[in-house]
Amino acid sequence: MRVAVTGGTGFVGRALVKALLERGDEVWIISRKETSSSPSANARLHQVSWNELAAAPDKLEGANVIVNLAGESINQRWTAASKQRVLHSRTDGAARIARLVEQLDQKPEAVINASGISAYGSSLTATFDEDSPLKVTDFLSSVVEHWEKAADTIPVERLVKLRVGVVLNRTGGAFPLMALPHRLFAGGRLGSGSQWLSWIHLEDMVRLILFCIDHPEIQGPVNGSAPEPVTNDQFGQALSKAFGRPHWLPAPAFLMKAVLGEMSSLLLEGQRALPRKALEHGFTFKYPTIESAMKQLSRANIEK
Ligand code: NDP
Repeated sequence: MRVAVTGGTGFVGRALVKALLERGDEVWIISRKETSSSPSANARLHQVSWNELAAAPDKLEGANVIVNLAGESINQRWTAASKQRVLHSRTDGAARIARLVEQLDQKPEAVINASGISAYGSSLTATFDEDSPLKVTDFLSSVVEHWEKAADTIPVERLVKLRVGVVLNRTGGAFPLMALPHRLFAGGRLGSGSQWLSWIHLEDMVRLILFCIDHPEIQGPVNGSAPEPVTNDQFGQALSKAFGRPHWLPAPAFLMKAVLGEMSSLLLEGQRALPRKALEHGFTFKYPTIESAMKQLSRANIEK
C-alpha cells in the first residue's frame, strides 16, 4: 500500500511511519522541509515538500491513503500570534490536501484527518462518544471545529476524523512534562483534580491509525482515546504508583493560570470521551487502563 503522511516527522507521525514501513507499506512523508538530496536508508520511504507537491502533485498519484497529522504544536505560550499559527496550520493543511486530492486522477481510497477530543468541549459530568454534538467551549474546541470543517472539503469517498486524546509515550508528546512534578517528588492534583483526561498510549494510537487504514467500513468521527478515561487526580495517583513517587502537592488553579495563562486550560479542563466506534469495529487496546499504560511507561523509563 502507498501511504502519504503529513506530520510524518512529528511525535505520532514518526511512530506511524516506522510501523507502516515495518509492515511493508510504501510511505511518502509530506513536510514543510525541502527534500534533501541524500537517498533514504529505506527504499520504501520517500519525503516530499508541500512546495514540490504544489508544482508536481502527480508525485502522489496512486497513493491509497493520506494521513494528515500536521499542525503547529500547542505546547507553547498561547499568544494571539501563536493561536493563529495553531489554527491556520491545521485549516491550511486540510485545504492543501483538498487541492492535492482534486488534482489527482486516481483519488486515494481514504483520508485520515487527525483532530482532537476537545471537539466535544469541556465537561466535568458528561460522557462523549462519536454521536455527541460538537461544542465550542474554548480555543482548542474552536480549532477542532474549523479543522474538521476544512477536512470536510477534501473530495474523498472515505474521510476519517480521528479525534485524538492526549497521546502518552515516555520520550515525546505531553507525558514527559506531565510526569515531571512527580519525578521531582512534587506531584499532586492540578486544580480540583476532577477534570477529565481522555488519553491513549502512543502504541495504541499507531495501531488505531493502521486499523482505520485497513478497515474500509470505518468513516466519519473516530475517538482516538482509551476506553477508560481518568480524572486528573486518578492520572496522578496512577503515575505516582507506577513511578514510586508521592502524590501529595496540589497545584492550585489560580497559580497555574498565572503561570501558564490561557494554556492552563489544557491541564485544568477536559472531557470524558469513549472510543465507541473503534470498539464496535473490533479494535482492541493494548493499554486499555491507565495502570497498564503507566506500567509500560515506567518500565520503559527504568530500561532507558
Ligand atoms: P507534532 O507537533 O509532533 O508534529 C506535527 C507535525 O506538523 C510536525 O512534525 C511538522 O512537520 C508539522 N508542523 C509543525 N508546525 C507546523 C506549521 N506551523 N505548519 C504546518 N505544519 C507544521 O504533533 P503530534 O505528532 O503530537 O500530533 C499529530 C497530530 O495529532 C497533530 O495535528 C495534533 O494536533 C494532533 N493531536 C495530538 C495530540 C498529542 O497528544 N500528541 C493530542 C491531540 C491531537 P514538518 O516539519 O515535517 O512539516
